[in-house]
Amino acid sequence: MMVRIDPCRYQVECKHCKMRIDLPRQSPLGRFPNLENLPKGEWPANFLCPVCERESSYFYKEILDVAQPLYPGQPPLGLLRTEYEHAQERSGERLVIYTPCTSGAPQANEIERVRKFVEEVENGKILRQDAIPFE
Ligand SMILES: [Zn+2]
Repeated sequence: MMVRIDPCRYQVECKHCKMRIDLPRQSPLGRFPNLENLPKGEWPANFLCPVCERESSYFYKEILDVAQPLYPGQPPLGLLRTEYEHAQERSGERLVIYTPCTSGAPQANEIERVRKFVEEVENGKILRQDAIPFE
């Protein structure tokens, strides 16, 4: 099988289980792979790990710059961006958490994973969700 190397893959690593999460090339997190354009407003950013279902928080300096094999037919995952607020606080502060999702339309299990985290761990209410494709 022909395997290409993607020289500009930016990732964060789950601080609990070491799972790597791809950052899309363009998102509210910034524009990749042009790191000199970073940071944009959303750092530090929170990510929900799809494997251990725990949250990690990152500063943009913690982004990993890796060369990654690109397997045909296996495009990198996009991100599901979820805005939420705490149910009991009236501050109106909007919190954001990211989790990997299939590009285009997130699957029910990806939405459910975030909903569970926001409601059960954060005691929060989801305000909006947007899927960000990798490309
Ligand atoms: Zn993890």
